Amino acid sequence: MPFNEIFGINAFGDAVMRDRLPKAIYNELKDVQTGCRELTVSCAEVVANAMKDWAIEKGATHYCHWFQPMTGLTAEKHDSFISPTSDGRAILEFSGKELLQGEPDASSFPSGGLRATFEARGYTAWDVTSPAYLSEEGNCKSLVIPTAFVGYHGEALDKKTPLLRSMQAVSTQALRVVRALGNTSSRRVIPSVGPEQEYFLVDEQYYNRRQDLFLTGRTVFGALPPKGQEMDDHYFGKIPARVSAFMTDVNEELWKLGIPAKTQHNEAAPNQFEIAPIYNISNVATDQNHIIMLTLKKIARRHGMVCLLHEKPFRGVNGSGKHNNWSLATDDGINLLNPGKTPDSNLQFLVFVSAVLDAVDTWAPLLRLSAANTGNDHRLGANEAPPAIISIFLGEQLSHIFEGIATGKPVPSQEGLQLELGVNTLPKLPQDISDRNRTSPFALTGNKFEFRMVPSSDSIAGPNFVLNTAVAEVLSAFADKLEKASSIPDAVREIVTETWKKHGRIVFNGNGYTGDWIAEAERRGLPNLKTSVDAWPHFADEDSVALFTKHKVFNRGEIHARLEIVLEKYSKQINIEAGVAYEMAVQEILPACSAYGATLAAQIRELEAAGMNVSSLRTRLGDITHLSEEAAKIADTLSAARLAARHISDPLEHARSCRDLVCTAMEALRAPIDRLEKILPKNAWPMPTYEDLLFRM
Ligand code: ADP
Ligand code: MG
Repeated sequence: MPFNEIFGINAFGDAVMRDRLPKAIYNELKDVQTGCRELTVSCAEVVANAMKDWAIEKGATHYCHWFQPMTGLTAEKHDSFISPTSDGRAILEFSGKELLQGEPDASSFPSGGLRATFEARGYTAWDVTSPAYLSEEGNCKSLVIPTAFVGYHGEALDKKTPLLRSMQAVSTQALRVVRALGNTSSRRVIPSVGPEQEYFLVDEQYYNRRQDLFLTGRTVFGALPPKGQEMDDHYFGKIPARVSAFMTDVNEELWKLGIPAKTQHNEAAPNQFEIAPIYNISNVATDQNHIIMLTLKKIARRHGMVCLLHEKPFRGVNGSGKHNNWSLATDDGINLLNPGKTPDSNLQFLVFVSAVLDAVDTWAPLLRLSAANTGNDHRLGANEAPPAIISIFLGEQLSHIFEGIATGKPVPSQEGLQLELGVNTLPKLPQDISDRNRTSPFALTGNKFEFRMVPSSDSIAGPNFVLNTAVAEVLSAFADKLEKASSIPDAVREIVTETWKKHGRIVFNGNGYTGDWIAEAERRGLPNLKTSVDAWPHFADEDSVALFTKHKVFNRGEIHARLEIVLEKYSKQINIEAGVAYEMAVQEILPACSAYGATLAAQIRELEAAGMNVSSLRTRLGDITHLSEEAAKIADTLSAARLAARHISDPLEHARSCRDLVCTAMEALRAPIDRLEKILPKNAWPMPTYEDLLFRM
């Protein structure tokens, strides 16, 4: 089948609905999707029936409500369509109620105390805006229905519910602003998101022999081979044939699901790659990003490889992130962050960029914590990722325009600049309004902002509900001003001026990877929350609680529950990593070292008896003995720190102890072990090395 014809064949998308639903029901559903009407059971009944027929024709036996609990992963529970009849046969059924609502129980998911297991009712509710699809696992096919997951009293137990709430909040406030600016036609404002997903591929045979990789997703030991990524020979390089075959299968599977996978390339580290789909509305983009992560993992196995989504699988080469491209557009297609040709006089652009400057500066700790996870602690501030300081790249021209308005010396836009390439046969290229800045955590790139701090393995719901809510808050203040203004251009000038004076400090167009910037950011008073454990507690700050409750994204209880969950998750992960490091050291590496040490000692005795000079062999044996003893001692310290941490009941104190004592001991253990790896003969080392994992495919 030509590849454009497979697009969407496994999704119950708009085209299928138009074909299969009566016109009145289709129109009703469209109204529900745009929030103009409430969903009725009778409408759901007809849709459920059409979905069931469609899925069964495609070989599905089950349906499932698919949701995103606070583990950051996805969850599913499958029910068959089978319904027994009184005469001992069976019919296939799927009711409107079953489409609308599920009760998966699912009480074992973390709830941060929002639900006790004895009152464990939890519900899933159909997200009408995200298309249902057909999943194929082996020969089992299921109709998958994207849902939100909430508790008995409607508390959000997942990542989708707050995201949907935040989309509503930002739409409400943004619409007030565009109305005040004279737009009478748009009915909604929708945040759009295009996430770029980075990942590593390693050969399955090596992966299976690394306890750290298969239990934690990262290597806790490993010395770099003589070559790393310094030659820049992997970045955008020729995609290896084996990986290309894998990417082809990934694309085919995603296209069938109606996910517009668009861009793929080699990334900076060896065996690191990226995939990006075309952007979508933010909840659908979030669902699709989950499907992309699941698909990468599934298809990699088919090709004898394993896909690593961890933020820092290997020390010494780049880690993986997820660039969250974000914008706001009206339902009739106006991108509110589009600078146009003359941004200096584009009031809408000036207001919305001002809103982002204010939101990102005021709520920097929230954005920082939305990108915090255990893996990202190894990545942020290392030399391949932005530091943990939030700043915005606007580019020179736009910065001058803002500055000019604020200081009353307006700078006109430079229209129609063209690049002179100095070669007659090359086309003249139009120059973009701003250059790019690879070091900025939050960069304006054309008509969207790119939040580049987001971790590769996590759901993008968190960064997006923070962004949407923070921007909604600023827009509501702007709308208050604009709605009362007698002159809109004057009011916009005032907004830009005030924003620039108060929040201009968030703009930094220079190199964010340098030490100078860290010092400069401190002078500007920008927070530098270095680790996740530093960042997370700000979620429950009073102003944060006020923000989220005002926009009905969370209530206080939901915030505290979430905070407890991330802290506990962190401590559990560190505990697992530490356990793995201990076992690998004590049960694999140190025994290999002493076995080799014994062989070496015997060899030395023999050579000495024969009158040979053995001084360099003796030095090597001494190093091995000394480093092994050091490692054994640190392993004991690690084990003690791990046990001690487990006895701390307060979640924040527990997490701090994991960070300060357990992680520190784990780091310390790595030093002698990585040195031992470089001393032992390659065939005496008991596990695959970085050379195998990064360079053999
Ligand atoms: P870049 O090279 O600027 O990173 P791309 O066009 O490849 O450019 O964009 C990266 C991601 O940004 C893609 O997923 C793309 O669909 C997405 N994107 C483009 N425009 C928007 C927008 N208006 N809102 C959200 N995401 C967008
Ligand atoms: Mg990009």
